[in-house]
Amino acid sequence: MPERASARYALWAMKLSRIAFTLSTAILATATALAQGKGSLRIAAIDVEGGQATLFVAPGGQSLLVDTGWPAHDGRDADRIVAAAKQMGLSRIDTVLLTHYHSDHAGGVPQLVARIPVVTFLDHGERFRPDPNSPVDYDEYLKIIATGKYKRVIVKAGDRLPILGFDAIALSAAGKVMNTSLPGAGKPNALCAKAPTPTEDMQENGQSLGILLRFAGLKIVDAGDLTSDRERLLVCPANKIGRVDLMIVSHHGSDWSSSKVFVHSLQPRLAVMDNGDHKGGSTSVIDTLKSSPGLEALYQLHLAPPAGTKNPGGTPQEGPEHNASDEFLANTAGTDGKRIDVTVNVDGSTDIRNERTGATKHFAKR
Ligand SMILES: [Zn+2]
Repeated sequence: MPERASARYALWAMKLSRIAFTLSTAILATATALAQGKGSLRIAAIDVEGGQATLFVAPGGQSLLVDTGWPAHDGRDADRIVAAAKQMGLSRIDTVLLTHYHSDHAGGVPQLVARIPVVTFLDHGERFRPDPNSPVDYDEYLKIIATGKYKRVIVKAGDRLPILGFDAIALSAAGKVMNTSLPGAGKPNALCAKAPTPTEDMQENGQSLGILLRFAGLKIVDAGDLTSDRERLLVCPANKIGRVDLMIVSHHGSDWSSSKVFVHSLQPRLAVMDNGDHKGGSTSVIDTLKSSPGLEALYQLHLAPPAGTKNPGGTPQEGPEHNASDEFLANTAGTDGKRIDVTVNVDGSTDIRNERTGATKHFAKR
């Protein structure tokens, strides 16, 4: 080999080995990141004692908090949200989405913003005037917005959520549901023929800004307190949503929501219910979830209210057997505030940790 050609060969060999080194370093970094759960979508179902506060953290670190729990209680719920946020590596919450203005969802806004920076609020717009139950919380929220420190965006049904880091769409808002079907969904639904048509909800619940997130080929639904009348519009006569992987159970498991036609049409593989020890967790809803085709696990933030308890406006509880088994209960008694933490991995598998037991269960992609 002539000397100049040999020198050129040596140079190429060196370049190739550098490329190989860079590639192997990148592969190693990716493997390490995967092992550490990086690239995952993380979800914390925070216990706010029968309200909602669900924190989503995207792989890039962007955060979305769905609802803020109750007011009062010395800022108990805001403290729990901030503790979860810090454990998840957050120093601020990018977006707070208020599903609706009832106390157990929007009541915690003033305490939250006093404890952690928030950038943007999303909501369904003006409160539903016929409902007498929300003016205080709505007015307090408007006062926070009026400080000018926060951006407020009103979301309509069918809108893609205007936030970075998440692929999410509004299923419902301000009493309406999205007009179109999600890709791959929209087939006529045979379950509708036998499903009752509920009367129209005349409270804030039916106005809920319900969302569907997509990540790693999975669908995650969180419909707030959306009531059965609007649920029916989403799945009848055609199922606009299709099957989902994870359901944050609507309305804390109250039987005003989570109708059989809704749950059995969506066929969640995994479900997390944010009930309290004296709120939600209706026997009929738990039975509906347990009998839903393809359900692999139902997690509850609390043991359902005891037999004989009557949920507000709902049917009586029937007994302790109408619960998930102990390993799936975050709180079995009292108000300890234990969480359920969900990690959706980039390969579509899911890990769910019960903070009370410390146990994590792995669920393969469907
Ligand atoms: Zn609620």
